[in-house]
Amino acid sequence: MVMALPVDLLRIAKDAGVIIRKNSEVHELSGGESGACILDGETWYLIYDDEATIGRRRFTIAHELGHIFLGHKLLNGRYGRTFNPDKPQSESEADMFAARLLSPACVLWGLDIHTAEEIAEVCNVSKAAAKIRAEHMAVLYERQKFLTSPLERKVYEQFKGYIDANKKSPSSL
Ligand SMILES: [Zn+2]
Repeated sequence: MVMALPVDLLRIAKDAGVIIRKNSEVHELSGGESGACILDGETWYLIYDDEATIGRRRFTIAHELGHIFLGHKLLNGRYGRTFNPDKPQSESEADMFAARLLSPACVLWGLDIHTAEEIAEVCNVSKAAAKIRAEHMAVLYERQKFLTSPLERKVYEQFKGYIDANKKSPSSL
């Protein structure tokens, strides 16, 4: 599979058999929720607040996919996404999954991307999410430990064509 940024969330959901629905059409979310996923028999439905900004919509979809892929326990047959500050660990895990899915560190490294502005543009994420990612990337660049795990090398391999075509050329320095 050849991957590129911004990550195509709809294709990932489709490949996983997850059906995505706009809340403006299904009215499933309750006050304060920006997304939810519901297991109906064998089928996952992912509902997102389609009135939010594009960056927020993408983060919500990635976060909900995180709950599904990480196999988190359901509460009353669903996960609800809220911005509750006292969030349980599964919420932090889904947030981390979303950040990694939307802005994979080894791909940003391959492209030599550092700033929040670049991350927001290239990954199509919100300024807020990009800022958090840029701070994390600064730590990773400091350590210079990329492609150390087989899984990360596999991710890099899937993005390699995209990275080679888009990385900054020395002449642009
Ligand atoms: Zn959640």
